[in-house]
Amino acid sequence: MEDENSIFPMEEALEMILFFNKEGIISYANAAARTKLGYGEPGGSEDGLRGRSIGEVFPHPFRDGRERTDYSLGGEQQKLVAYRRNKTCFPVEARIAPGRGGGELFVCMANDILEQEHLGREIGQIREEARQAAKAKSEFVANVTHELRTPVNGILGNVRELLGDVRDDRTKKALLLMERCCGDMNKIIDNILDFSKLDAGKFVLESRRFNIRNMVDYVREQHRGRIAEKGLDFFVTVSPQVPEYVIGDELRMVQILNNLLSNALKFTAVGKITLQLLRTARSGDKVELFFIVSDTGIGIGEEDRDKLFQSFSQVDASISRKYGGTGLGLSICKQLVELMGGRIEVESEKNRGSTFSFSVWAGADGEDASQPLSDDIAGDANDDIRTAFRQMARQAREEGDGPEDVRRYGTPENREALRRNLSKLILCVEMENWEKAEMFMEAARQLAEGAPPEVKRAALRLKMAIQKESYEKAAAEHEKLSEALGREEERDGEHRHGL
Ligand code: ADP
Repeated sequence: MEDENSIFPMEEALEMILFFNKEGIISYANAAARTKLGYGEPGGSEDGLRGRSIGEVFPHPFRDGRERTDYSLGGEQQKLVAYRRNKTCFPVEARIAPGRGGGELFVCMANDILEQEHLGREIGQIREEARQAAKAKSEFVANVTHELRTPVNGILGNVRELLGDVRDDRTKKALLLMERCCGDMNKIIDNILDFSKLDAGKFVLESRRFNIRNMVDYVREQHRGRIAEKGLDFFVTVSPQVPEYVIGDELRMVQILNNLLSNALKFTAVGKITLQLLRTARSGDKVELFFIVSDTGIGIGEEDRDKLFQSFSQVDASISRKYGGTGLGLSICKQLVELMGGRIEVESEKNRGSTFSFSVWAGADGEDASQPLSDDIAGDANDDIRTAFRQMARQAREEGDGPEDVRRYGTPENREALRRNLSKLILCVEMENWEKAEMFMEAARQLAEGAPPEVKRAALRLKMAIQKESYEKAAAEHEKLSEALGREEERDGEHRHGL
């Protein structure tokens, strides 16, 4: 075997290598084969395997070489059991091929896979345990949330009944607050339930025919009032190419849009919010719908954008009190969008606004599917089209009625917006609607971003009073902030006059 060994160092190879003739008699075994099979000391040169039958090492399928003459086993790599001299055995992965000499000589190369198999079994076991644990966890979450819903609805029912009877204002206010808290709790329970179902892969989408323009109208109506109340513009457009009817899960599409629009409203103090619906592709009897929700709010820094769609993550933990929420909303949106065959993306710039866009595939109604196929768009081209639409949305976000002037502290537009927010804020404080008061407070804080320290400090004190939900303190701090703003405005006027 010397010349072979000089080309390929078989003797030192980690693989077991055995040569045998057509009668199955072994003529050579390398060091790895001799040691592993117990026919020689590690490092020794004695070849105790020479002259033995290959059937001693692999009784299956060669049993003494007599029952089987096709030694090559088709030349394929396969799993065999190798027997040691002491009759113990271990699994190997082996390939047997005819050597030189036209079927006179065979070579077997085998790897010990005992450890690999152990490892494989262990990994399998760990995986199974993790699967069981995840299943137990999601079942637990599903049960707990279900059990929570019953008492919450019990409280809600009773509160509503009492609300019909009470006359006294204080009690009524307390009951209204309880009603709102129950509503919030139900929303959180819904989110956790959705999340655990999605996590466990048990979420089933509905597939029904519905009028998509009506759906968009419904979503618009739900948000219009609150957006207008905050003094923001709201534009909704549906491209004429979007079919009248589609087949899909209407409720879940509404859920995603509600989430994105509520976030847009939460994080926008000035400017506008837009919702656009387009049809970006059609393939067979399916259409791709593309939704864009854009705002001119606080925006999201680049470093935080990756975290957005992760469960339980809020960009800045300190804002969770201010805006509420569990950080599950976008993660649920992402999973729902993916279940509908689409993708959700965000494009944003700090202090300038955000554009969330997502695509979903829905069944096309018969009417739409009969349109000429030439208007189908596929693959990469489709990606380009979505990117172009997103860019258009960003440009639209940046232009318009000059939100820049409103944002820049000290401009007449900014002063006007500040005054408007503070007067709405004090109304909410008087009605002890703290949630809304916080919303106007945040808008005021953003509008006072470039103000002198005196104004900023007054704004911070007012914010703390609102967070403490103290009417007296909030009213007093509101007055102080208004005075500070007045003084500052006067100084600014004198300064300008002097120039
Ligand atoms: P939550 O239910 O707590 O609002 P989401 O998953 O909907 O959770 O949002 C997670 C976080 O992403 C928010 O807390 C906020 O920090 C950020 N975010 C989402 N939408 C916007 C937006 N339009 N503008 C700025 N920040 C946003």
